[in-house]
Amino acid sequence: MSFLKKITEQVTDISKKSQEMVGVTKLKLERSQIESQVNSSFKELGEQVFISYCNNNTDGDAVIIICEKIKKLKARIEEINQEIENIAPRETLCPNCEAKIMSNVHFCSKCGHKIKDDNASQEGVSGAEK
Ligand SMILES: [Zn+2]
Repeated sequence: MSFLKKITEQVTDISKKSQEMVGVTKLKLERSQIESQVNSSFKELGEQVFISYCNNNTDGDAVIIICEKIKKLKARIEEINQEIENIAPRETLCPNCEAKIMSNVHFCSKCGHKIKDDNASQEGVSGAEK
């Protein structure tokens, strides 16, 4: 048991860098949880649309409520992506001039090309949202 205590003491002494890594890991975990919530919300949405269709019910309140929920979840995913970038920016290449830049910059420092690491399109959702 004293061995375990020793490990715990060492763990509390972690460097700032590894604290950052823990932060990123937490954020990524939260993001994947939210992504699965988004997926189940889409399923729920599909079911709700079908129920409305079967009941010949044109009142779309239930559908709108689910859409609003998905919108909020997606906004949170964007926030998390931004937080991850802020904590641990990756080194990347400018798509225009291939200069080395950090992933959290908005513009390339060399050529001024607009850098927008847009992860929002990763689910291949069609342009229903504005
Ligand atoms: Zn550039």
